This record gives sequence, C-alpha cells and structure tokens, in this order.
Amino acid sequence: MADSILVIAEQREERLNRVSFETVAAAQAIAAETGWNVEAAVFGNGISAIAQELAGRKVARVYDIESPRLAKYEPDGTVAALKAFIQQKQPRLVLMPHTYQVRDFAPQLATALGRTLISDAIGFRKEGAKLIFTRQMFQGKFAADVSFACDPPHFATFQAGAFRGDKAEAGASAAPVETVNAEVPESVVRNKPEDPFKEAKQAVDLTQAEIIVSVGRGIKEQKNIELAKALADALGGELAASRPICDSGWLPMDRQIGSSGQTVSPKLYLAIGISGAIQHIVGMKGSRSVIAINKDAEAPIFEIADYGVVGNLFDIVPALTEEVKKAKA
Ligand SMILES: Cc1cc2nc3c(=O)[nH]c(=O)nc-3n(C[C@H](O)[C@H](O)[C@H](O)COP(=O)(O)OP(=O)(O)OC[C@H]3O[C@@H](n4cnc5c(N)ncnc54)[C@H](O)[C@@H]3O)c2cc1C
Repeated sequence: MADSILVIAEQREERLNRVSFETVAAAQAIAAETGWNVEAAVFGNGISAIAQELAGRKVARVYDIESPRLAKYEPDGTVAALKAFIQQKQPRLVLMPHTYQVRDFAPQLATALGRTLISDAIGFRKEGAKLIFTRQMFQGKFAADVSFACDPPHFATFQAGAFRGDKAEAGASAAPVETVNAEVPESVVRNKPEDPFKEAKQAVDLTQAEIIVSVGRGIKEQKNIELAKALADALGGELAASRPICDSGWLPMDRQIGSSGQTVSPKLYLAIGISGAIQHIVGMKGSRSVIAINKDAEAPIFEIADYGVVGNLFDIVPALTEEVKKAKA
C-alpha cells in the first residue's frame, strides 16, 4: 500500500461519527494534490454495515477491522489492533478526526510505531515533495506550519470543521470492503471500559441543526434572550450561545458553541451580538452561511460572516423576526 492515505474513521454504537466524513474529505483533498490513494478503515465488533457506509465514499478500499475485544472502545486494544494493521499495510499517511477518542489513543499509536503525530491541524499544503500542515497555537493567535521529518507512516488529525463532510466525494460504485480479523491479546488491555458517557436525555444535539440562532453578550440581559428565541422559532432553528451566556446560566451549557462547547456546521448560523473570539469561531466556522449582527463594524465575526449587519440588535432582531413570520404566513 505504498503512497496511500489511510483514513481511520470513528464509529460509536454502530454509527459513524460524522467528522469521519470530514477526514475522508481531507484525505481526498490531499490525494488530489499528491496523487496518493485513499483507503479507509473502521474498527469495532460486528460493524460491517458501517464499513459498507464508508465504502460509498470515493475510496479505493475499506478495511473492516474486527475483534470482540474492540466491541467497547478502550485505548490499549485499539492501539494493538491498529498498530499491527498499519505495520502490515505501511500507508504513507494516517489521517484521523481530532475527536476525544482519537486524542485518547492516537499519541500512543504513533509512539508505538516510533513515529510522531501532528494533531488538530486546520489545513495543509504541498511544497515540493513535502506536506505542510497548519496548526493553531496560543488560542488561535498564531498559526504554525509543521511537517514530518521522520519516515512514514505519518500520523495527523484534523480539527472538526477544518473540512466539510458533505464535500467527501461519493464513489461511482461502492469500494470493496475487506474484513480484517484483528488479534488483540487480553494481556495488552489494561483498562476495563465502562459504558460510554451519554449526555442527559434532554441535551440538545446542535450538530444536527440546520439553522442556528446564536446569541452573545451583546444581548445584555437574560430576559432579552427571548428576542433571539423568537427569531429561532420563526426560522424553525435552534437557539445557541457564546460562552459568557452559558457561564452566566442564561442558557444551559449544552447550547454553547466553541472550543469548550459544541462544534456545529448548520446551513445557516446567525450570530447576534457575538464578537467572534477564536474560541467561538472554531465551533461554527464550518457553517455553510454565516449572518452576523453586531453594532461594532470592526468586530472579528465580520471577517468570517457571509452577510453582516452593522447595527443595534434590539432594533434589528424583532424586525427580522416579524419579516420572517410574514414571509412564512
Ligand atoms: C480556554 C477558553 C475557552 C473558551 N471557550 C469558548 C467557547 O467554547 N465558546 C465561546 O463562545 N467562547 C469561549 N471562550 C471565551 C471567548 O474568548 C470570548 O470571551 C467569548 O466568545 C466572547 O463572547 P461574546 O462574543 O458573546 O462577548 P463579547 O466578546 O463581549 O462580544 C459582545 C459583542 O456584542 C456586540 N454588541 C454589544 N451590544 C450590541 C448591540 N446592542 N447590538 C449589536 N451588537 C452588540 C459588541 O460589539 C461585541 O462585539 C473561551 C475562552 C477561553 C480562554
């Protein structure tokens, strides 16, 4: 498997984590520049349906890495299975989504193979024969260019939202799926996994929302959030917020967008009274369309907004809600 990119997709409870598709899109973008092959792997127990789903994307082959010891995620068994597989296949580049699970095992996996890991990259470019990855540093104040000095296989993870999952090209026909029965000796496993953490039932999954109306400190008082709620209801969208709003208890924590909240990529993200701090931007920059309402024309949110309205939200939001209601009537 010389000069190939291996995407390690993530599944949980028989569902592919959608950032896996972002990683496929990243691999396809790198392949377009380098001419390398894209292959994908997913690991677990009894996950052939997931492997088939992955095979619908434009990849040369999908590996379904199976073992009863991979039924519940834990890092040691995962590393044992993936290490043996990568040693055998020798991909040039191993790409993974920068999820909590990957953060847990990827450094151990790279180290087990005597390699290093470039984590949380936001982009790449090719310079001569070299792939350069971009990483943010110091809360996004600086961007660093990094590349591998060691021999392949190289390991890298991409930040959620760095690539668009819906841009992962579908294949003309399903890619072949190869089942790999992984040997995971009991002796390597040091952890006894418990059931995965689940959000409380009422927790809202903003990652699935198509329209998000997000409110920031410009809203001034908790009671004014009703204005944004009315607009969200009129648009049939979900309400979200910047961190100070959730920290103040004005909205529950599961509505927070950003580096310490949810990462979303709706069709429409309406940012109301949000300045656009980097910790907020990383959570919503994958949105297809961003509208920002802010009284400060210099607010950084306007740098990523597709449409910007400079003005007082207390004048604009109620008027906009009325117009949306009229248009829907
Ligand atoms: C480790 C760490 C993690 C963090 N994680 C997150 C995170 O996950 N999510 C997050 O959001 N933040 C996060 N933050 C905080 C982040 O740095 C910012 O402080 C925060 O995003 C600012 O929120 P804001 O835009 O609502 O408020 P502000 O920065 O105070 O901006 C308010 C905006 O409202 C505008 N405004 C005021 N009045 C009006 C009006 N009447 N009409 C229109 N506009 C008006 C102002 O011009 C201003 O631009 C984190 C910070 C750290 C250090």
